[in-house]
Amino acid sequence: MHLIFGSLTLRKLIFALCLLVMGCGPASGPAPSNPAGLKIVCTTTMITDLVQRLAQPDAQVVGLMGAGVDPHFYKASASDVAKLQQADLVFYNGLHLEGKMTEVFEGVKKTRPVVAVTDRIPKDRLLVHQGTPDPHVWFDVSLWAMCIEPVTSTLIARDPQHAVEYTTRAKALAQEMAELDSWCKTELATVPAERRIVVTSHDAFSYFGRAYGYEVVGLQGISTVTEAGISDVTKLVDFIKRKKVPAIFVESSVPRAAIDRVSQDSGAKVGGTLFSDAMGASGTPEGTYDGMVRANVNTIIEALR
Ligand SMILES: [Zn+2]
Repeated sequence: MHLIFGSLTLRKLIFALCLLVMGCGPASGPAPSNPAGLKIVCTTTMITDLVQRLAQPDAQVVGLMGAGVDPHFYKASASDVAKLQQADLVFYNGLHLEGKMTEVFEGVKKTRPVVAVTDRIPKDRLLVHQGTPDPHVWFDVSLWAMCIEPVTSTLIARDPQHAVEYTTRAKALAQEMAELDSWCKTELATVPAERRIVVTSHDAFSYFGRAYGYEVVGLQGISTVTEAGISDVTKLVDFIKRKKVPAIFVESSVPRAAIDRVSQDSGAKVGGTLFSDAMGASGTPEGTYDGMVRANVNTIIEALR
């Protein structure tokens, strides 16, 4: 009995009954096995993109932070809290990236899984600045690929009916990221070794630097919460002059005034805008993880080569 009237069969029966009551026949389309799907809330645009790639169309995925939003400063609004409280699952970056959301997560955690996608990255692969782990792992594509597994296993645990779909998408995405990683290595190696220096607003690119062989210097630390002081500007200007750095970069989620000042004082041109803690607008090529990484790499090599 239990086997015959398993949840799937029972749900189909109920669906057929509903159609009869509503007065439309079965010709209007087959019953989806899980019409609503899991409701998933993510924090940053990179995480929303990752989870959408793995979960859709079998789940509903929404992100709290949009393009150009700085996650270090982001505070959950009343409507964010409502979304979090209605979610079946929550994914966030962790490593203190969403520093102003810790309390909200503590509350939401009591009633549903709240998962840091960076959880399975081995500790010895993390960079630590003054005792604090650097949260910007997404710019080493091989590290970001390690975030596929915790998302996939959480999806399967909460929605085993779609295990095959989640696993298939995870394999395809891992393959895609491996290709993206090797594309980054090839392209970034075309810049002469002495020019492989990326100067930006804040230290978002340390993992990028380690992975692809670039020296990375940020005006602010690994969080944008502390502003750049005058001594930081002076030190950075000296560094740029000493190393003859041809171009420095603005970040899409950080105000550009300080970098403009460094550019004027040092003579290095502004080489373009890098996406750091948020992707581009949705619907544009830079509104995906893959497009964002490619846009950054192209901006860097064009300005420095
Ligand atoms: Zn940052």
